[in-house]
Amino acid sequence: MAIFDESFHTHTWRCNHASDSERDYVECALQGGMKTLGFSDHSPYVFDGQHYSSFRMKPEQVDDYFDTLEALKAEYAGRIDLHIGYEAEYYPRFFAQYEKLIAKRPPEYLLLGQHFLYNEVEGIGSMRKTADDAPLIQYVDQVCEALDTGLYACVAHPDCIHYVGSALVYEREMTRLCECALKNDVPLEINLLGLRTNRHYPNPAFWPIVGRVGNTVVCGSDAHAACDVCDQASFARAMDMVQQYGLKWRSASCILNGGHLLR
Ligand SMILES: [Zn+2]
Ligand SMILES: [Zn+2]
Repeated sequence: MAIFDESFHTHTWRCNHASDSERDYVECALQGGMKTLGFSDHSPYVFDGQHYSSFRMKPEQVDDYFDTLEALKAEYAGRIDLHIGYEAEYYPRFFAQYEKLIAKRPPEYLLLGQHFLYNEVEGIGSMRKTADDAPLIQYVDQVCEALDTGLYACVAHPDCIHYVGSALVYEREMTRLCECALKNDVPLEINLLGLRTNRHYPNPAFWPIVGRVGNTVVCGSDAHAACDVCDQASFARAMDMVQQYGLKWRSASCILNGGHLLR
């Protein structure tokens, strides 16, 4: 039976809605028998004008993020493998300046967490419930465009779009998303935070499509508190989904290697 010993979706206090220290997350992961832990806090972003983003770290916190995690990486070497990434939206209008920002201290991986359509300055939240086709189509367009940049290693909560319209349109559009992820060798994440807190995702309409298209699937704890890092109970539910929908589950470190296992 698979055990949950690798997760690449972990936040830190810098995003203003997560608690505990990085060391607490690492210790909880070790206590839970995890082998690999990736940090993927909400990425800093650069906007034009006065926009202030309250749910992500600031560009001036990047050095502290890396310095803190690199020190822990060295201290815990041989006990647990730590990795440093970001969860980042794809905002076409601000992406060129985003790439410049992260080039200064490049993360090992980027999770695509498309929390907004267009961008957070002039767009709307992806998780806003809607029966309109337009936001769904925009979400899929934007995720596909993001994946085609080749910069994202995994799609976090790919089914976070909260569309409650036509089942046929949902199937058509999400098939497009899955086919694009497959073409780019990018795994899709079953989000354990969604399971843990009974969100609208994982969406039971989405995962049969993933099974049919044949995407690689990983689990991410999406921990915003240290005690959630090694969420075996939600992982067991995710493994039931893997069985039920015939999904190709892999340990999460495959995201460092285009969806293929490292060992
Ligand atoms: Zn968050
Ligand atoms: Zn997210």
